[in-house]
Amino acid sequence: MTLLSPARDALATGPLCDACLGRLFADRSFGLTNADRGHSLRVAVALEDDEPFEDPDDECWVCEGECARYDWWAENAAAAVRGYDFSTYQVGTRVPPLLEENDLLLREEAGLDEDAGELLKSEFNREVGKRFGALTDTEVDFGRPDIMLHCDLTTDEVEVQVNSAFVYGRYRKLKRDIPQTKWPCRDCNGTGRQRDELCDGCDGTGYRYDESVEQLTAPVVEEAMDGSGATFHGAGREDVDALMLGSGRPFVIEVDDPHVRDIDTDPLQADINDFADGKVEVEGLRLATHEMVERVKEHDASKTYRMDVSLDEPVDQETFDAALDELDGATIYQETPQRVDHRRASKTRTREVYSIDGTVDGDTAELEVHGEGGLYVKELVSSDEGRTEPSLAGLLGVGAEVTALDVLDVEGEAEPFADEDFFRDA
Ligand SMILES: [Zn+2]
Ligand SMILES: [Zn+2]
Repeated sequence: MTLLSPARDALATGPLCDACLGRLFADRSFGLTNADRGHSLRVAVALEDDEPFEDPDDECWVCEGECARYDWWAENAAAAVRGYDFSTYQVGTRVPPLLEENDLLLREEAGLDEDAGELLKSEFNREVGKRFGALTDTEVDFGRPDIMLHCDLTTDEVEVQVNSAFVYGRYRKLKRDIPQTKWPCRDCNGTGRQRDELCDGCDGTGYRYDESVEQLTAPVVEEAMDGSGATFHGAGREDVDALMLGSGRPFVIEVDDPHVRDIDTDPLQADINDFADGKVEVEGLRLATHEMVERVKEHDASKTYRMDVSLDEPVDQETFDAALDELDGATIYQETPQRVDHRRASKTRTREVYSIDGTVDGDTAELEVHGEGGLYVKELVSSDEGRTEPSLAGLLGVGAEVTALDVLDVEGEAEPFADEDFFRDA
């Protein structure tokens, strides 16, 4: 196809800038900007028709001069993100409907298909993006960039969206009665007040527990990244009264609106451990990508527990061992435990006991259980009134109850997420 005929028709529509002319043929030849294409076509038409060459003086009727403002937009975008630390970006453009219509009209006048060449929006994103990247020495990322810029051509404003930053690590909980995340008081719905008085249930704090693993760790990360909020995502959770020991449980802390991303995680780890004051300890801290959140939340790791058990009657070691033999390697059927949130619909699930070991001394026992992720171990001991089958209490024919519970290990690996894809380098 010769380009000269539609180019000539396009030029006849009125003052047209090189970019708007060249954009009609954006799919032809690589390594050129649309403005390069437009300029070449304008020259070629003048040569072919033996007419004097002239650059247009008047404002382009299609883009109304917007294609001449890429530098202005890039500089404004760079100013809008000042104070933010980022290495990747993406530019989006809101084009007024009138300009989109002009683009269509031009194609019609030039006898071209509606979708010939490239959209004004795409050219804008690329041209402003290219300049912004050069100004800020950062890279475009079409997946999940650190920041998103929206150039709104109707208001002449740049909107900045700063994506969260993520820190991965593993925690140990060394004191009991600490929930993993903030636990709002049920009596006052977290408001701390009831009928204009301080809530009795929480002494006005709004929380059922004074501290959580989240509250002992996330604020330190939020401050280090100069963010405006932080959320704790754990790979499962232990009971409030259980310790979390061994190599720790994986977690991700997500920081909203971070001004700083590339922090050194070694001093951060030390700062968190200072702040958590021996109640919680973190290790293996690394910067992570947003994919790590899903990864950690879906992670249903096998766990090893240590439990103190109280029995309603004394049991001898032989009887006790026979019961443990039955449970060793068994598939356990469990209805949702009664202690679990009553709003949750009850369902039966099966989980494996990989191994179980223990000693008994009269009416107290100690157990170590390695079980599949999601196994309810307190119910494995007590039977939860027959809702868990088989169970230690059921097999012994004696009531049994866990009086202390510790998580010794999650998955038995120091690093369950070896995949480098989910980490980012500082
Ligand atoms: Zn134009
Ligand atoms: Zn309360």
